[in-house]
Amino acid sequence: MAKLKITQLGHPILRSQAQPVENFTDKKLQQLIDSLIETATAANGVGISAPQVSQSYRLFIIASRPNPRYPHAPTMNPKAIINPKIIAHSDETVKDWEGCLSVPGLRGKISRYQTIEVEYYNPDGQRQQEILTDFIARIFQHELDHLNGLVFLERLESKKDLYTEEEYQSLIE
Ligand code: ZN
Repeated sequence: MAKLKITQLGHPILRSQAQPVENFTDKKLQQLIDSLIETATAANGVGISAPQVSQSYRLFIIASRPNPRYPHAPTMNPKAIINPKIIAHSDETVKDWEGCLSVPGLRGKISRYQTIEVEYYNPDGQRQQEILTDFIARIFQHELDHLNGLVFLERLESKKDLYTEEEYQSLIE
Protein backbone atom coordinates (compact mmCIF):
# COMPACT_ATOMS: atom_id res chain seq x y z
CA MET A 1 0.00 0.00 0.00
CA ALA A 2 1.18 3.46 -0.76
CA LYS A 3 -0.24 6.93 -0.74
CA LEU A 4 -0.51 8.18 -4.32
CA LYS A 5 -0.18 11.63 -5.87
CA ILE A 6 -3.58 13.19 -6.59
CA THR A 7 -3.96 14.69 -10.07
CA GLN A 8 -5.12 18.31 -10.07
CA LEU A 9 -7.52 20.24 -12.31
CA GLY A 10 -5.81 20.76 -15.66
CA HIS A 11 -4.36 17.25 -15.82
CA PRO A 12 -5.71 15.66 -19.04
CA ILE A 13 -6.67 12.36 -17.33
CA LEU A 14 -9.38 14.27 -15.41
CA ARG A 15 -10.93 15.11 -18.80
CA SER A 16 -10.82 11.57 -20.20
CA GLN A 17 -13.22 8.61 -20.30
CA ALA A 18 -11.81 5.89 -18.05
CA GLN A 19 -11.57 2.29 -19.28
CA PRO A 20 -13.60 -0.61 -17.85
CA VAL A 21 -11.85 -3.02 -15.46
CA GLU A 22 -11.69 -6.41 -17.19
CA ASN A 23 -9.28 -8.52 -15.13
CA PHE A 24 -10.55 -8.94 -11.57
CA THR A 25 -7.85 -11.49 -10.68
CA ASP A 26 -4.98 -9.06 -11.34
CA LYS A 27 -3.22 -8.44 -8.01
CA LYS A 28 -2.60 -4.86 -9.12
CA LEU A 29 -6.34 -4.21 -8.88
CA GLN A 30 -6.42 -4.93 -5.13
CA GLN A 31 -3.20 -2.95 -4.65
CA LEU A 32 -4.75 0.02 -6.44
CA ILE A 33 -7.92 -0.22 -4.29
CA ASP A 34 -5.83 -0.30 -1.08
CA SER A 35 -3.77 2.68 -2.24
CA LEU A 36 -6.88 4.65 -3.20
CA ILE A 37 -8.38 4.10 0.28
CA GLU A 38 -5.13 5.18 1.93
CA THR A 39 -4.82 8.23 -0.33
CA ALA A 40 -8.43 9.36 0.27
CA THR A 41 -8.13 8.85 4.04
CA ALA A 42 -4.85 10.80 4.28
CA ALA A 43 -6.39 13.69 2.30
CA ASN A 44 -9.64 13.79 4.35
CA GLY A 45 -11.63 12.74 1.30
CA VAL A 46 -14.90 10.78 1.38
CA GLY A 47 -14.34 9.34 -2.08
CA ILE A 48 -11.67 9.10 -4.76
CA SER A 49 -11.60 7.78 -8.30
CA ALA A 50 -8.81 5.95 -10.13
CA PRO A 51 -8.28 8.79 -12.67
CA GLN A 52 -7.45 11.05 -9.70
CA VAL A 53 -4.33 8.96 -9.13
CA SER A 54 -3.51 8.79 -12.86
CA GLN A 55 -5.08 5.33 -13.42
CA SER A 56 -7.63 5.34 -16.24
CA TYR A 57 -9.98 2.67 -14.82
CA ARG A 58 -13.71 2.70 -14.11
CA LEU A 59 -13.10 2.31 -10.39
CA PHE A 60 -13.72 4.51 -7.37
CA ILE A 61 -13.86 4.34 -3.59
CA ILE A 62 -16.63 5.58 -1.32
CA ALA A 63 -15.18 6.05 2.16
CA SER A 64 -17.49 8.36 4.07
CA ARG A 65 -16.69 9.24 7.68
CA PRO A 66 -16.51 12.51 9.61
CA ASN A 67 -13.22 14.35 9.04
CA PRO A 68 -12.06 17.99 9.02
CA ARG A 69 -13.22 18.50 5.39
CA TYR A 70 -16.61 16.79 5.98
CA PRO A 71 -17.42 17.04 9.73
CA HIS A 72 -21.00 15.76 9.28
CA ALA A 73 -20.34 12.82 6.94
CA PRO A 74 -21.90 9.44 7.86
CA THR A 75 -19.51 6.65 8.86
CA MET A 76 -19.14 3.53 6.69
CA ASN A 77 -16.53 0.97 5.74
CA PRO A 78 -14.65 2.00 2.59
CA LYS A 79 -16.17 0.37 -0.47
CA ALA A 80 -14.64 -0.22 -3.91
CA ILE A 81 -17.02 0.41 -6.81
CA ILE A 82 -16.00 -1.04 -10.18
CA ASN A 83 -17.57 -0.50 -13.64
CA PRO A 84 -20.48 1.43 -12.08
CA LYS A 85 -23.81 2.42 -13.68
CA ILE A 86 -26.84 4.36 -12.49
CA ILE A 87 -29.81 2.27 -13.62
CA ALA A 88 -32.59 4.42 -12.11
CA HIS A 89 -32.93 7.64 -10.15
CA SER A 90 -35.46 9.74 -8.26
CA ASP A 91 -37.05 12.76 -9.90
CA GLU A 92 -36.11 14.65 -6.77
CA THR A 93 -32.74 16.38 -6.65
CA VAL A 94 -30.94 17.90 -3.68
CA LYS A 95 -28.58 20.88 -3.89
CA ASP A 96 -25.73 20.64 -1.40
CA TRP A 97 -22.02 21.27 -0.95
CA GLU A 98 -19.27 19.37 -2.74
CA GLY A 99 -15.54 19.62 -2.88
CA CYS A 100 -12.95 17.64 -4.77
CA LEU A 101 -9.41 16.51 -3.91
CA SER A 102 -8.45 17.46 -7.49
CA VAL A 103 -9.94 20.98 -7.15
CA PRO A 104 -8.36 22.21 -3.91
CA GLY A 105 -9.59 25.34 -2.15
CA LEU A 106 -13.07 25.44 -3.70
CA ARG A 107 -16.55 24.26 -2.78
CA GLY A 108 -19.71 24.35 -4.83
CA LYS A 109 -23.41 23.81 -4.23
CA ILE A 110 -24.38 21.11 -6.71
CA SER A 111 -27.72 19.46 -7.55
CA ARG A 112 -27.68 15.65 -7.49
CA TYR A 113 -30.38 12.97 -7.56
CA GLN A 114 -31.56 12.30 -4.02
CA THR A 115 -31.90 8.53 -4.62
CA ILE A 116 -30.17 6.36 -7.20
CA GLU A 117 -30.31 2.68 -8.03
CA VAL A 118 -26.85 1.53 -9.01
CA GLU A 119 -25.13 -1.50 -10.43
CA TYR A 120 -21.40 -2.17 -10.08
CA TYR A 121 -18.86 -4.95 -9.50
CA ASN A 122 -17.06 -5.58 -6.23
CA PRO A 123 -13.32 -6.46 -6.15
CA ASP A 124 -14.20 -10.19 -6.42
CA GLY A 125 -15.92 -9.52 -9.74
CA GLN A 126 -19.44 -10.06 -8.36
CA ARG A 127 -22.20 -7.86 -9.67
CA GLN A 128 -23.89 -5.75 -6.98
CA GLN A 129 -27.14 -3.80 -7.05
CA GLU A 130 -27.95 -1.17 -4.45
CA ILE A 131 -30.14 1.80 -3.71
CA LEU A 132 -28.23 4.82 -2.37
CA THR A 133 -29.60 8.04 -0.91
CA ASP A 134 -28.48 11.51 0.14
CA PHE A 135 -24.76 11.99 0.92
CA ILE A 136 -23.66 8.52 -0.23
CA ALA A 137 -25.68 8.92 -3.47
CA ARG A 138 -23.95 12.31 -3.89
CA ILE A 139 -20.47 10.77 -3.53
CA PHE A 140 -21.40 8.07 -6.07
CA GLN A 141 -22.59 10.65 -8.62
CA HIS A 142 -19.51 12.86 -8.05
CA GLU A 143 -17.09 9.93 -8.48
CA LEU A 144 -18.95 8.51 -11.50
CA ASP A 145 -18.54 11.92 -13.16
CA HIS A 146 -14.75 11.55 -12.75
CA LEU A 147 -14.87 8.31 -14.77
CA ASN A 148 -16.56 10.28 -17.56
CA GLY A 149 -14.08 13.16 -17.55
CA LEU A 150 -16.24 15.60 -15.58
CA VAL A 151 -15.53 17.54 -12.38
CA PHE A 152 -18.12 19.21 -10.14
CA LEU A 153 -17.43 22.62 -11.70
CA GLU A 154 -19.33 21.48 -14.82
CA ARG A 155 -22.39 20.80 -12.66
CA LEU A 156 -22.60 24.33 -11.20
CA GLU A 157 -25.94 25.95 -12.03
CA SER A 158 -24.51 29.38 -11.20
CA LYS A 159 -21.01 30.65 -10.55
CA LYS A 160 -22.51 32.21 -7.41
CA ASP A 161 -22.71 28.68 -5.97
CA LEU A 162 -18.90 28.54 -5.89
CA TYR A 163 -17.16 29.39 -2.58
CA THR A 164 -13.62 29.25 -1.29
CA GLU A 165 -12.84 26.52 1.23
CA GLU A 166 -12.34 29.18 3.93
CA GLU A 167 -15.77 30.79 3.38
CA TYR A 168 -17.38 27.35 3.24
CA GLN A 169 -15.74 26.30 6.54
CA SER A 170 -16.97 29.48 8.26
CA LEU A 171 -20.53 28.73 7.02
CA ILE A 172 -20.72 25.17 8.36
CA GLU A 173 -19.14 25.87 11.77
ZN1 ZN B 1 -13.69 14.75 -7.11
